[in-house]
Amino acid sequence: MSVTAAQTTRTTRTTRAQWGPDFDLLARQDPELAGLLLAELDRQSAGLQLIAAENFTSPAVLAALGSPLANKYAEGYPGARHHGGCELVDLAERLAVERATALFGAQHANVQPHSGSSAVLAAYAALLRPGDTVLAMALPQGGHLTHGSPANFSGRWFDFVGYGVDRATGLIDYDRVADLAREHRPKAIVCGSISYPRHPDYAAFREIADDAGAYLIADAAHPIGLVAGGAAPSPVPYADVVCATTHKVLRGPRGGLILCGADLADRIDRAVFPFTQGGAQMHTIAAKAVAFAEASTPAFAAYAQQVVANARALAEGLAGEGLVVTTGSTDTHLITADVTPLGVDGRTARGRCAAARVVLDTCCLPHGPEPPAPPTGVRLGTAAVTTQGMREAEMPRIARLLAAALREEPAARAAASELAAEFPPYPKAHSG
Ligand SMILES: *Cc1c(COP(=O)(O)O)cnc(C)c1O
Repeated sequence: MSVTAAQTTRTTRTTRAQWGPDFDLLARQDPELAGLLLAELDRQSAGLQLIAAENFTSPAVLAALGSPLANKYAEGYPGARHHGGCELVDLAERLAVERATALFGAQHANVQPHSGSSAVLAAYAALLRPGDTVLAMALPQGGHLTHGSPANFSGRWFDFVGYGVDRATGLIDYDRVADLAREHRPKAIVCGSISYPRHPDYAAFREIADDAGAYLIADAAHPIGLVAGGAAPSPVPYADVVCATTHKVLRGPRGGLILCGADLADRIDRAVFPFTQGGAQMHTIAAKAVAFAEASTPAFAAYAQQVVANARALAEGLAGEGLVVTTGSTDTHLITADVTPLGVDGRTARGRCAAARVVLDTCCLPHGPEPPAPPTGVRLGTAAVTTQGMREAEMPRIARLLAAALREEPAARAAASELAAEFPPYPKAHSG
């Protein structure tokens, strides 16, 4: 991809206002790389970002990420580091931990995992031994790679048994989960998914885990932002360990988070460092602290409610356009839908949407055709468009232009650009 000088000049003016003078410095020193960053900002602003795991983080979070905390080595935990000079980053990490425990009502938080996958790795490392049996959502039904994929450490090191959703309703079959738990006596049960559009019944999972003598690990990477805003039930009172990301609906920096009770705090901390990670990324931890503070505000609660209202409105609009929405609607930010009634498979759908600047993912639907047959579904979410300020009124517009894109109507691209232009992700000037 080539970035023209014209593109760079066009966006530099707005970007200076948004991200401060440091960006000008980068543009002068390394125009080639700066041009790529600006082109990416243009790409994110010029279309609709409907990838369910994405969002627009705030300028304050971006500022913390670009701060001198990026320079600091800090292996260990506040007050017990393997490096000198950690007095101030210790305070930053303590702030992040205090804010996370207060936000989620958890006894303990570890804010160091580099990603959601690293958080899950640490949870397994804390509770399991290689070869242990784990019961988790099967990958073709919506499980994450860390829930037993043979291509991932989880599938290599543990013996995963998969549960799924009911063929008719698309809902988790809790009787089947209970049967599998009785049959396989897993050491841990994982609840959480990359595509399940409804709230897991955490109390039911707790009961099944107790009956089986298993730990309950909630992988709430997707819904944790809704939990923070009071728009989804919390797994914290039920799960032994809650794993999460900070960059999805929660809208913080890219990273992971683990919540647990005081009884498991030491094991979780040792599983993160030194067992699976090295030095903490203090700039990211500072940015997590900023995001946790943002997420504790009434404005964030309103955003979280709006994310769900928007997803329901969008699901209704898509159903009206002939897509078959999994479970009929959604409780969360996330929608999956079968696009084959419109005469396309999931990959063709993603390509046609991309051509119209509507960015979304393909999705293997539960009980759909097995690979190598192409996926039949798409997966999308409303977190990013809600952060941009879109509300229920905009959702039928998105549904119409998305369906137009699937029909390869040329007007779809202009409609997407027009809607995106009405809701710039970084509208305000933050410095002169
Ligand atoms: C996103 C996600 C993860 C992994 O997060 P990364 O930061 O990409 O490693 C893990 N589990 C679930 C259920 C997820 O949705």
